[in-house]
Amino acid sequence: MKDFNFNILQNCEFGMGALKKLPDILKKCGSDNVLLISDRGLEAIGVVGKVKAIIEEAGLKYNEYLDVVPNPTTDVVEACGKLYAECGATSMLALGGGSPMDVAKVVGVVARYGGKVTDYEGVGKVPGPIDTLIAIPTTAGTGSEVTVAAVITDEARNYKLSVLSPEISPKYAVLDPELIMTAPPSIAAACGIDAFIHALEAYINTAATPFTDAMGEKAMELIGANIRRFVANRKDEAAACAMMLGSTFAGVAFAFARLGNIHAMSHPVSAFFHTPHGVANAVLMPTILEYNALADEGRYAKVYKYVTGKDAGADFVPMMLVDEIRKLNADLGIPACLADVGVTEDKIPAMAADAMKSGNVLVNPRSSTVKDIEMLYKKAMYVK
Ligand SMILES: [Zn+2]
Repeated sequence: MKDFNFNILQNCEFGMGALKKLPDILKKCGSDNVLLISDRGLEAIGVVGKVKAIIEEAGLKYNEYLDVVPNPTTDVVEACGKLYAECGATSMLALGGGSPMDVAKVVGVVARYGGKVTDYEGVGKVPGPIDTLIAIPTTAGTGSEVTVAAVITDEARNYKLSVLSPEISPKYAVLDPELIMTAPPSIAAACGIDAFIHALEAYINTAATPFTDAMGEKAMELIGANIRRFVANRKDEAAACAMMLGSTFAGVAFAFARLGNIHAMSHPVSAFFHTPHGVANAVLMPTILEYNALADEGRYAKVYKYVTGKDAGADFVPMMLVDEIRKLNADLGIPACLADVGVTEDKIPAMAADAMKSGNVLVNPRSSTVKDIEMLYKKAMYVK
């Protein structure tokens, strides 16, 4: 067995109504001036108001930045960072899906160390700790509440850059399934399948360890058994709890094991065509799983059980998992191919070049050249 390191970087509070623990967490973090970072959608449905009332009750000074958008850009980070400096905040509370959490992580870096977002692009460029960040996910999800990564779109390059460092990981996470129970079905499906893919890629890649396997397996078990139920009815409390916890466990798995070709290839799709992150991943998943099957060491059979609830059996072949994943995508309303989400073939060479820059290609179970990545994009264009 290879050597590996693991630790849990944050203090997580899980439970229905866990939001009520927020005043205690705010007291513990020792800051009396917090910037709430969220988006207009959550403001419109009253979630932002609920959190603001809790901060007020705790007697803290706060300001708010609510203009985070999906696939947030470097401009959003700069605007939010400017407000953070102007209002003299000393901690951040990120409320939302991956976007507000990713913005907060990088605001923390720029606020403390100056410069531009691009100065910190890549692995290990953050010089030291950031101000306390509390993350409250409202989707299940990106897992950003427990990961060491922030993904920000650089519009000048049509490129989704990553800032990767344990220093940017939130210090506290509030995992309250009540918050994901208002999601529309399309968001529940796209975010839920993304969380499953985090666990899957971390589980089958070459960087997996017994620790990340434990997290990934439990995540796939929870999500595989509950994603259909949850998309069908977000008020299903047991399914919401399973999805929330599965999403966070998947985040822990990939914070340590990274991902694979699915995420490496989905980021350029989102950067060029503004496809939602989870949808881009889900559309690519069957084609890449088929490609990776050649490297399978028996893990596809285990994933099959998490997706179907049935033992794989002696006659199992990896294509049976690929077929089940196509069925799952169809049940969740995920388009079958890249053409159906508006991707055009002319961008394939540029997308493949960008995908190769991702560290995730290096840990994909089957090694890949730029030609392989181009072939996979082409195959995923029209496959049904
Ligand atoms: Zn993802």
